[in-house]
Amino acid sequence: MRYISTRGQAPALNFEDVLLAGLATDGGLYVPENLPRFTQEEIASWAGLPYHELAFRVMRPFVTGSIADADFKQILQDTYANFAHPAIAPLRQLGSNEWVLELFHGPTLAFKDFALQLLGRLLDHILARRGERVVIIGATSGDTGSAAIEGCKHCENVDIFILHPHQRVSEVQRRQMTTLFGDNIHNLAVEGNFDDCQEMVKASFADQGFLKGTRLVAVNSINWARIMAQIVYYFHAALQLGGPARSVAFSVPTGNFGDIFAGYLARNMGLPISQLIVATNRNDILHRFMSGNQYVKDTLHPTLSPSMDIMVSSNFERLLFDLHGRNGTALAQLMSSFKLGGGFSVEEDRWAEARRLFDSMAVTDEQTCETIAQVFASTGEVLDPHTAIGVRAARECRRSLDIPMVVLGTAHPVKFPEAVEKAGVGKALHLPAHLEDLFQREERCTVVPNDIAAVQAFVSAHGNRGKPL
Ligand SMILES: *Cc1c(COP(=O)(O)O)cnc(C)c1O
Repeated sequence: MRYISTRGQAPALNFEDVLLAGLATDGGLYVPENLPRFTQEEIASWAGLPYHELAFRVMRPFVTGSIADADFKQILQDTYANFAHPAIAPLRQLGSNEWVLELFHGPTLAFKDFALQLLGRLLDHILARRGERVVIIGATSGDTGSAAIEGCKHCENVDIFILHPHQRVSEVQRRQMTTLFGDNIHNLAVEGNFDDCQEMVKASFADQGFLKGTRLVAVNSINWARIMAQIVYYFHAALQLGGPARSVAFSVPTGNFGDIFAGYLARNMGLPISQLIVATNRNDILHRFMSGNQYVKDTLHPTLSPSMDIMVSSNFERLLFDLHGRNGTALAQLMSSFKLGGGFSVEEDRWAEARRLFDSMAVTDEQTCETIAQVFASTGEVLDPHTAIGVRAARECRRSLDIPMVVLGTAHPVKFPEAVEKAGVGKALHLPAHLEDLFQREERCTVVPNDIAAVQAFVSAHGNRGKPL
């Protein structure tokens, strides 16, 4: 499988080089040159497979040429072996023909484990073969950091540095990062905000001299391997609900458009998906595009669903690429006009094309709490605020009551106690067994000034399993 850049100017790469690349050299994002397409019979024959075996069938075409089948099977078996639920991604019914796909049974209790548990193992496999080491530097406001550290903690060939804003992440989220130890794990609390952390990561990618030749790898959802891993659970859910003979609709709590883009790809690979709902919080750039063809940058609004607090959706470029007939030159122009002017609209027929599949809603904090309370009253289930946004949007935007509606349950509610307490159902919260003693565990973390030179000096002093690069 070959991968091409959305901006048309960077060289095409194979899977293993895409895994190790961040942005393409032309500033674009990598996408498969040709998407695999499965027949209905083929998809139907996968019904009842264990999750890791389904994952093998769905993802195999993306890695052929880079990873041998037997190795890939083993990697997938290991990846999903430490999830706390035997179904890996169980469906729970909330209402009539309405379901939550619980994606929070992984080690860090959010859907990001599905991709990052795999990413760490893929990196180690390929790096061992090449005899190379890499450094990961990532910024997090919460879920990504812990999932990335959990995914890489056993890697022989990866050193991981996670930057979080000092005293500005919740205690559960901080502890999920700082209680994981290893000589290749480095938590840095930056005396600044999340944007400062993100800027330092970007600047480090742009100028890598401080790494003395060691390669820097991206763990945010611009990394293709993350999107790829998320395609699988759309197939998994649909197969449980009578697919592919029957269509299914999905409502997806959305920030950077990574998770929902995976659903869009599942549909293009042959899975009958009749509707995809973009569920956002007040940071609603995607909703404003879907409802009114305006993709315009706004200021950041902190909400009760912080994992979706974004101003711009990095993966949306991948959808725009398809909407523009995969014309890299057109995309490069569009993205540069966005950079200059802070916004754009697309031609009417391209927008109409997107609207055939996508609907959207922006859900307020108040509606989020209301939905958590309503669902608890009617089912006894406690939703996390992101999932609640998905449920609310599903109920408002649903096109057909006959088609099963699946809401992606993106996080466990214990990660976001503030919203759950505001909704009045905080008493029902309990840490899962493997994290019961989280608040008693020892923490390790280095506080650093809000200064890129200090952060980069730390990385070069510790980037080789705690020793200098
Ligand atoms: C990351 C995250 C999201 C947003 O996912 P995107 O792929 O950025 O759209 C939603 N909910 C939770 C809990 C998350 O951690």
